[in-house]
Amino acid sequence: MSELQRFLFDGVPVRGALVRLTDAWREVLARRGGANAYPAPVRSVLGEMAAAGVLMQSSLRFEGALVLQVFGDGPVKLAVAEVQHDLAFRVTANVAGDVAADAQLEAMLNVHGGGRCAITLDPQRRQPGQQPYQGVVPLHGDRREPLQQLSQVLEHYMLQSEQLDTKLVLAADDRIAAGLLIQRMPASGAGNLSGPRNEDRIGQDEDYRRIAMLAATLTSDELLTLPADALLRRLFWEESLRRFEPRAGEPAPHFACSCSRERVGRMLLGLGAREVGEIVAEQGQVEIGCEFCGLKYHFDRVDVGGLFTPAGAQLPGSAAVH
Ligand SMILES: [Zn+2]
Repeated sequence: MSELQRFLFDGVPVRGALVRLTDAWREVLARRGGANAYPAPVRSVLGEMAAAGVLMQSSLRFEGALVLQVFGDGPVKLAVAEVQHDLAFRVTANVAGDVAADAQLEAMLNVHGGGRCAITLDPQRRQPGQQPYQGVVPLHGDRREPLQQLSQVLEHYMLQSEQLDTKLVLAADDRIAAGLLIQRMPASGAGNLSGPRNEDRIGQDEDYRRIAMLAATLTSDELLTLPADALLRRLFWEESLRRFEPRAGEPAPHFACSCSRERVGRMLLGLGAREVGEIVAEQGQVEIGCEFCGLKYHFDRVDVGGLFTPAGAQLPGSAAVH
């Protein structure tokens, strides 16, 4: 079962979380054709994005969708992971060229240095006129060096946009997508983060650095194979780590797609009667596949006719009659 473990360190302002997406991750890949879903390095980066998205959502506890997007200028044009407040997640990618078997972030998404990573927080109940919050970071470091790991990009984002010192370790293969997050807890009180350094603060930094360094010794292989208990013991056996018991009814990370026939219908309406009519005339029907879950929606001549008929003009017995 997919799991999220949250923990903190007694007496030290550092918290952490470990996510292991197993059944949910395999379901995502199976729906997109298993091993043929995407090239292997893209599957791996999507798994890392899903794991990172769950970790960030559980850390920010945002009432809405956290959307992680990487816009690429290489063979991969776009990679997306979306995680809802209840830890439902879905991913997709748009691959337009050949991806080498050993490709890392730069070769996939940042060939010309134009790759960007955007994190969008889209509130569940948006007020009229309210725009979702979005932060964008490049795929290179402070000295313009291209970053090869998604974890480095996201650490940069968390520091820049959320003012949170964060250590992330991510890995994914076709069985599991997993991640470890270690974070210095936001200091209490306004201005503490940017305020003058004091004795307390220096002590906190040392604790964070020590624990982040322990986390950095975790190998991809260990992250992918060790059960949560063994993994946390291996890293933090000298620390007094305290696990949060999951609250009753707290959902585990899981796959879910929010696509629906109604939404696809609205999209077709947006395309316009003429364009959709032409497709139906040519192919007998319109087929729209969901990029996230692979589900196919079909609209035949009658469906399309109903879609573009104003509600009041529909025949008695159709959906418009209440
Ligand atoms: Zn879907």
